[in-house]
Amino acid sequence: MTTTKSMLLVVACALIDGDGRVLISQRPEGKALAGLWEFPGGKVDSGESPEDALIRELSEELGITVKAPCLAPLTFASFNYETFHLLMPLYVCRRWEGFASGCEGQAIKWVRPRDLRDYPMPPADEPLVAHLIDLL
Ligand code: C5P
Repeated sequence: MTTTKSMLLVVACALIDGDGRVLISQRPEGKALAGLWEFPGGKVDSGESPEDALIRELSEELGITVKAPCLAPLTFASFNYETFHLLMPLYVCRRWEGFASGCEGQAIKWVRPRDLRDYPMPPADEPLVAHLIDLL
């Protein structure tokens, strides 16, 4: 018998600083996949556009203000987890206002693209790294 899994829409962003480094964020204790590093972002709420969700999540998680025209879609992840199927568009952003910090107590790091593979990531995020390396 086949069961239909729910689809989860999560949106993520590669923030890129003036030195070409990318911000990654560590999933905190108590969350699924705790300790793994990811591109910041989160779930898209019902009725919300992916861009609006990303702007909200980046403000909540990192304390920065991003304007929609500064978000450029790069690629997306599609990953079949055991209990749901994740669809995760990845945007790139080079301009924002404010200083990024881990507002929810999470560790953050600015990493050179070629060093991203040194940081263990959720399986959905791993294929995104190659796209970023190509871009940068
Ligand atoms: O971040 P949050 O826990 O709301 O994400 C829901 C699920 O989406 C996670 O449990 C994880 O399986 C998946 N996820 C992921 N990569 C991310 C963010 C979330 O695989 N960058």
